[in-house]
Amino acid sequence: MTQHPLYELPAMEEIRRVASWLARLGWSEGSGGNFSVRLDTLPEALTALAGDKPVPVPVAVPALGGCYLLVTGTGTRARDIAEAPHEGLGLFRIAPDGQSTTFICGNDRPTSEMPSHLAIHAALHETRPDHRAIVHTHPPRLIAATHVPEFEDPAVMADVLLRMQSEALLHLPDGFAVLPYHLPGSLELGLASAEAVRRCEVVVWRYHGALATGRSLDAALDTLEDLDKTAEIYWTLRSAGVEPAGIPAEAAEQALRAFGRWERYARWRKG
Ligand SMILES: [Zn+2]
Repeated sequence: MTQHPLYELPAMEEIRRVASWLARLGWSEGSGGNFSVRLDTLPEALTALAGDKPVPVPVAVPALGGCYLLVTGTGTRARDIAEAPHEGLGLFRIAPDGQSTTFICGNDRPTSEMPSHLAIHAALHETRPDHRAIVHTHPPRLIAATHVPEFEDPAVMADVLLRMQSEALLHLPDGFAVLPYHLPGSLELGLASAEAVRRCEVVVWRYHGALATGRSLDAALDTLEDLDKTAEIYWTLRSAGVEPAGIPAEAAEQALRAFGRWERYARWRKG
């Protein structure tokens, strides 16, 4: 049996692994969540398959002109992608002027959030060009934290959660953004996220989920795991009736200074 051409891409093994983890973590329930990877070049066998029916994108992304996007299909389940990534993922070419995309192979019905993914990749291309992967999923403990009234101020939520665990603090010295509620799947949510990723690697969507960027899908998932751990500790303490005090400010500062990350943290934290 001949192999599906998408398996020419080295990223396919990683996709299988990350989709499997998202399903096992219970973060991408049903067809929840989506992810994408930006590629600059393709193996020849794939470029030859490019179609000739460009589909306009609602917001042009000239920064991505000539790049390729591997993105999850609409209504696809993480657990199914883990089994057969070539059925869940679609490969698209972005026109040189960034005004349209053309389907190459795989799943030809991309997530409705593809315009958002494109806008976020365009922002990354400018600010952190080595970040080629975006993962959006629904970590429940993190979503629960967005319902806490004291966390209405995003900087308070970021500071309290990150001071639950020392390595999370070191891994996310830029904190994370928290966006107000937006209609799920809306371009408005995508554009607000594209703005937010310029400052930090994780964007939490109030009452919805989170999105992380990374050099790879694995790295983006790592970041979400680091952050989810802080929410887990927070809720464990709250459930036990303990009001979490967090790592003392002096200890946090000492650790951040020791790793040369204090200035990044001081830039956004409260007081
Ligand atoms: Zn979602």
